[in-house]
Amino acid sequence: MIIVMEKSSLDPQIEHIANQITELGLKAHVIRGTERTVIAAVGDERKIKVESFESFPGVAEVLPILAPYKMASREVRTDQTQIQVLNFKAGNGAVGVMGGPCSVESEEQIVSCARAVKASGATALRGGAYKPRTSPYAFQGMKEDGLKLLALARQETGLAVVTEVMSPEDVELVAKYADILQIGARNMQNYRLLEAAGRSGRAVLLKRGPSATIEEWLLAAEYILNEGNPDVMLCERGIRTFEAHTRFTLPLATVPYLHRKTHLPVIVDPSHGTGHSYLVTDMAAASVAVGADGLIVEMHPNPEKALSDGYQSLDFSQFDGMMKRCKVIADAMGKQFG
Ligand code: PEP
Ligand code: MN
Repeated sequence: MIIVMEKSSLDPQIEHIANQITELGLKAHVIRGTERTVIAAVGDERKIKVESFESFPGVAEVLPILAPYKMASREVRTDQTQIQVLNFKAGNGAVGVMGGPCSVESEEQIVSCARAVKASGATALRGGAYKPRTSPYAFQGMKEDGLKLLALARQETGLAVVTEVMSPEDVELVAKYADILQIGARNMQNYRLLEAAGRSGRAVLLKRGPSATIEEWLLAAEYILNEGNPDVMLCERGIRTFEAHTRFTLPLATVPYLHRKTHLPVIVDPSHGTGHSYLVTDMAAASVAVGADGLIVEMHPNPEKALSDGYQSLDFSQFDGMMKRCKVIADAMGKQFG
């Protein structure tokens, strides 16, 4: 259930309703938008007489929620959420770009990537320290040493750092070094991990599972939001289909579709979405044109030598070209880019 407050409603009225909801055994989330304040009651609605809230002072409207995801739904928030972490901004008129290697490999590699990312005008550095690899024999990441190098690269450049966390036990450690926690495609339905990320105090980039429906993905986001963490970004990174020419199939209709269903920012990953470096710039440009609130793009000083995903990584000059092309599109749409 969503309770929409009058524009003129007072804080004690909002607090009173939130307390009533809590007393009835549900969770109350107060969401303050620019237009109005709404209170989302999350839990078993059968315990509540929806109409009884209509007579509370300050209430404009009471809406039973139809979408199974409540906090993520457009119904609770008509304006779009903007997430800001250091200089990185995504959503509500801002297109934020995260660039960097698939894996952190060395100090020289990650710091040179960070400098190139910054010089091209992007505001966040990606880099995996804990790598979910299909084969147990493939490079598994530098783990905490990799996190330390990411923090060093942030210190050098001021870029926000985004990196993957693979298990609930690692959340505290990764959150100590990173600004944004990435939940990888393979972990989209690891519910204990989602809850831990929800309690981490860090923004979360939630990648879509390759076989997950949009509803399952939004319900996964709901796990994070339900822990009181409003800073969730959804990342389309391609889904599994019969088509084998690209590593995954990148469905860009996801972006405008999600904008109808949720207020959360939508990021696109054209690197994993295509699996070919020669397709990345075109799909990044298409993503911005279709309204993406951000991009996450793999780049490497020498893609041929990369320890993971080199075949889909841009070199520094290709990354710079991608940024220039996407900026023209973002400018034409009246959006802030970088
Ligand atoms: C990655 O970002 O390097 C990664 C492993 O992504 P995904 O979880 O989308 O496969
Ligand atoms: Mn990768």
